Amino acid sequence: MAETKSVREENRAPWLRSIGEQLGEALEWLSEAQRREEENRLLYRVLAAVLERQAEVERDALRRLEESGAMDEIRRSARRIAFSRRSLLEEMGGLPEPLLDEEWLREKLLEIAQAAVGAGWSPEARAAPLLSPVEKALLSVRELVEDVLRGRLDLLDAWAGAVSTSRDNVAAIAYWLLQPLLSAVRLAAGQALGWVHEYWQQGRCPVCGAPASVGYMKGEGRRQVMHCTLCHMEWVFPRATCPSCGTDKPGDVVFYQADPERPWLRLYRCRRCGHTWRIVDEEHEALPRSGEKLPPRILYDLYTAHLAHLAERLSGRAEEK
Ligand SMILES: [Zn+2]
Ligand SMILES: [Zn+2]
Repeated sequence: MAETKSVREENRAPWLRSIGEQLGEALEWLSEAQRREEENRLLYRVLAAVLERQAEVERDALRRLEESGAMDEIRRSARRIAFSRRSLLEEMGGLPEPLLDEEWLREKLLEIAQAAVGAGWSPEARAAPLLSPVEKALLSVRELVEDVLRGRLDLLDAWAGAVSTSRDNVAAIAYWLLQPLLSAVRLAAGQALGWVHEYWQQGRCPVCGAPASVGYMKGEGRRQVMHCTLCHMEWVFPRATCPSCGTDKPGDVVFYQADPERPWLRLYRCRRCGHTWRIVDEEHEALPRSGEKLPPRILYDLYTAHLAHLAERLSGRAEEK
């Protein structure tokens, strides 16, 4: 019996792994990283605390979807993507209702934010006032979530303005909440996303619609797979094609091995639209020799974040010309 279980787990598609399933590996990697990089210790500690809460919210969200009978509709919507070519969220008209309960959302947002503060994250040392509009229910978390998903930032700005902080600080909290909600929708759709994983071929995420900025190469012919930094969906995407404007003309897409100590990290840049994205070459020959262990893929955004900073400098330079 034990064998059957392990075979089943091994056959499980990587794009169907939950935050919870990758949590142990992620925490181990983050604690190792805290020892290795003194200067980023606080960041890693905060992210570890956030991930632990996110795994709980993801589990809770999935339970809400199951108990409310929303699973069938999510799967039906996922199967329609093959014909509609719209993201799952567009297909459903937004997040499923069971995940939009105001009381529940507020409780989860506060749990995540308080875990971050407990680990030392306190932007401008004003964490309490930062959260007060949420605690006092002056801000609708449901509206905030729906706004951010539509790419509207008015409520984020209003919140930031009310507590005199930057939009980035409140945006971080909003995204920390969105990640496990969207991840639960991905898990709820499950195998119904099988077609999408192989054949979606667009540069934005087939589940949540976020533009692709991170991916990896692996397996036969080093196939490239994009990894959504919001919902953690993964889908096959052609190499040397810009996920933003779609150009695949020779010369339009350039790549840099921007981190000399980690030649398996590639920074790509589109010369046509300026979009940048980062790819981990998981089977690069230098990797086994280096002794470095790759983090689980839910941490690839963080693992390659230093390349994103370089990308900003590159685009700044391009604008100067
Ligand atoms: Zn996504
Ligand atoms: Zn482009």
